[in-house]
Amino acid sequence: MPHTRPLSDRYGRVATDLRVSLTDRCNLRCSYCMPAEGLDWLPDDSVLTDDEVVRLIRIGVELLGIREVRFTGGEPLVRRGLVDIVRRTHEIDPTVETSLTTNALGLVRVADALAAAGLDRVNVSLDSIRRETFHAITRRDRLQDVLDGLAAARDAGLGPVKVNAVLMRGQNDDQAAELLRWAIAEGYQLRFIEQMPLDAQHVWNREQMVTADEIFERLESEFDLEPAAEPRGSAPAELFRVDGGPATVGVIASVTRPFCGDCDRVRLTADGQVRNCLFAREESDLRTALRAGASDEVIADRWVVAMRGKRAGHGIDDPSFLQPDRPMSAIGG
Ligand code: SAM
Ligand code: SF4
Repeated sequence: MPHTRPLSDRYGRVATDLRVSLTDRCNLRCSYCMPAEGLDWLPDDSVLTDDEVVRLIRIGVELLGIREVRFTGGEPLVRRGLVDIVRRTHEIDPTVETSLTTNALGLVRVADALAAAGLDRVNVSLDSIRRETFHAITRRDRLQDVLDGLAAARDAGLGPVKVNAVLMRGQNDDQAAELLRWAIAEGYQLRFIEQMPLDAQHVWNREQMVTADEIFERLESEFDLEPAAEPRGSAPAELFRVDGGPATVGVIASVTRPFCGDCDRVRLTADGQVRNCLFAREESDLRTALRAGASDEVIADRWVVAMRGKRAGHGIDDPSFLQPDRPMSAIGG
């Protein structure tokens, strides 16, 4: 039996939830994430191969106590080996929960295969159910593909299907209630995420962002919201029962109500760097060790050391806050 060590930091937090970015590329251009022209993508030879990704996940699960693996990007559905990576992850330990954060383009074609490979759930990002607004935010006229992908995920049993929405002032901040009404009717769990300073263009602005308080205001004009009974634990979303339940809505107030003290996450970038926080300014290179023939134990040691430097909080409100060099799409949101 391999010796398991926790991925603990100096503040007593233990990471058990691994976010794996499978690519930095994407087929949408959400304005809060990427510029219209896209980004300089990672060179192919720096991106981990399927075997390398699966090996690092296995080390995380078998040696470091990882209990949940979420695949993300960029857009994970553009990664050719996705279904196989999911299947091999499931085979490492079927009790480890696996999920996918996706824009759902093309999900209609692979939802059944992903479910058969052992994927438990999907989170789909969708900021508007109006075609023009969706087009304006993502710079692509693909709303119907997303709606079809969502339905396919639900039909494939990849639920509860969660929908993540970012509200942008002047673009879709008048559509919060409409989104919630639609999500409840479709049987999706809607969560609003505060916009964070992780855009590649560095145009995020605290005064411009739509805060959790504003989101509540907009929702409470149409719905009755009360805190859901179950404790939040390490989940980032604060959950509210809508009109007495059973439907709920979540708000992820990363900026105005940070939950860093309960964070149980660690991230692996598509090029094999461990990041102990979305907002970390340093990364730990596992790819070089991997390609130099390091043993599982040596890689696990490096990973443990990488977690020790995790900061107490993201510090967005500190005057000294610096946005990380990599944007969200290259870190893995
Ligand atoms: N492409 C996939 C998707 O959109 O779901 C996975 C990667 S995307 C970077 C993951 C999540 O990050 C999405 O829900 C997206 O809305 C969110 N996101 C991207 N940039 C953000 C920002 N600046 N602030 C808050 N959330 C952001
Ligand atoms: Fe692509 Fe997701 Fe970023 Fe939108 S949020 S551009 S779908 S990576």
